[in-house]
Amino acid sequence: MEKGSERSILIAGAGPVGLTLALELARRGIRPRLVAKASGPTPSNESRALGVNARTLTLLEECGATALILHKSRRINRFRVASRGKPLLTVDTAKLRGRYSPLYALPQGDTEDILIALLAQHHIVPEWRTAVEDVTGRTDKPAVLLRHADGNSETVSPDILIGADGSHSVVRERCGFTFPGESMDMPFYLADYRYTQPVETGYAEGNFLNPGVVARIPVREDTLRYISTREDYEGLITHPGEIRDKPWVSSFRVSFRHVESMRRGRVFLAGDAAHIHSPIGARGMNLGIEDACWLAWLISEGREAEYSDLRMPAIETVIKATRRNTVFVTLRNPILTGLRRLILPWLSLFPATTRAVLRTVSGRDTPPPPWIPGAK
Ligand SMILES: Cc1cc2nc3c(=O)[nH]c(=O)nc-3n(C[C@H](O)[C@H](O)[C@H](O)COP(=O)(O)OP(=O)(O)OC[C@H]3O[C@@H](n4cnc5c(N)ncnc54)[C@H](O)[C@@H]3O)c2cc1C
Repeated sequence: MEKGSERSILIAGAGPVGLTLALELARRGIRPRLVAKASGPTPSNESRALGVNARTLTLLEECGATALILHKSRRINRFRVASRGKPLLTVDTAKLRGRYSPLYALPQGDTEDILIALLAQHHIVPEWRTAVEDVTGRTDKPAVLLRHADGNSETVSPDILIGADGSHSVVRERCGFTFPGESMDMPFYLADYRYTQPVETGYAEGNFLNPGVVARIPVREDTLRYISTREDYEGLITHPGEIRDKPWVSSFRVSFRHVESMRRGRVFLAGDAAHIHSPIGARGMNLGIEDACWLAWLISEGREAEYSDLRMPAIETVIKATRRNTVFVTLRNPILTGLRRLILPWLSLFPATTRAVLRTVSGRDTPPPPWIPGAK
């Protein structure tokens, strides 16, 4: 296969995954074109993907993003589990040794801003409000119809097309990728609370309400995210200070789906376009960033045909772990929730179990990047 720099590359989508892919290509001297339907990055008040894990920090060292993320993010030092406010288990993140702590909190928009600023240093600017409307032709030479903000259209035929266009991916749908899986009935509710004073941001907590669960995750020095399976959860929160406002409120349903192959001909999928699952474990964005880094490396080596085979085992591992954790957290049967309450305090007696949990949270349960010496 030809190496990357001589070929035209179109990336559809400038979320964290499309931006990472562009940056990882650019730092290797390859200039992709990056288009996005959105008018700009994720707004800073919508925290969305908050957790940046150790694997992502390892992957983004070389492009310069890691130092900037560490500077802006909050390190999570402890994970606490409680039942109706009564502590059951605390896991100290220092129990897993490594260059980075397993998880840091940074709103998705801030991560995207960092990637956009670094891309600008390579003179690459995402073309906002430019949507992929259709993809026709064979997947080994796709013709892509772009619609610009002014209503004008343009057809391009890139050598490589990458769909990083999110969970409703047009590239996936138009290029005939199947997206099997299942959706959960249970809705999730979310609110970010901003307080008038700084609050404790060193830990994340899951509190089983039996029925239901509410999680508390740091966002910024004065902001916490609460996420729950119960619609009435806001009345059950003990706030750590006086509330200033609620910058973001949302609700969503969870699906577990992934494509059967991440490549068809010269069309590749990465991030939510290729796989979606529940936010429990904070893996979605991190897994997509991992896709992006692997694909950029393979393109630069002229080995992109290997992408799907190399990535699918990692995707399957993460979806399996996320599904298992989601089922565990959302148990409704009173006998099983009672057992869960009994078992959890004993986990701290088994260091290997807590280390395994931390390895999953840190993203170190998938194959390490072979191009980074010593990466775990
Ligand atoms: C409530 C919530 C909490 C979450 N928490 C976490 C977390 O803590 N950690 C984590 O890792 N993940 C988390 N996630 C998941 C995370 O937000 C996603 O996995 C991540 O945004 C996926 O990035 P992406 O770039 O693949 O897609 P997106 O962020 O969806 O970006 C898609 C891009 O494609 C563009 N686009 C869409 N259609 C077109 C088109 N037709 N043509 C051109 N461009 C198009 C969009 O404009 C956008 O730029 C969470 C998700 C939710 C909903």
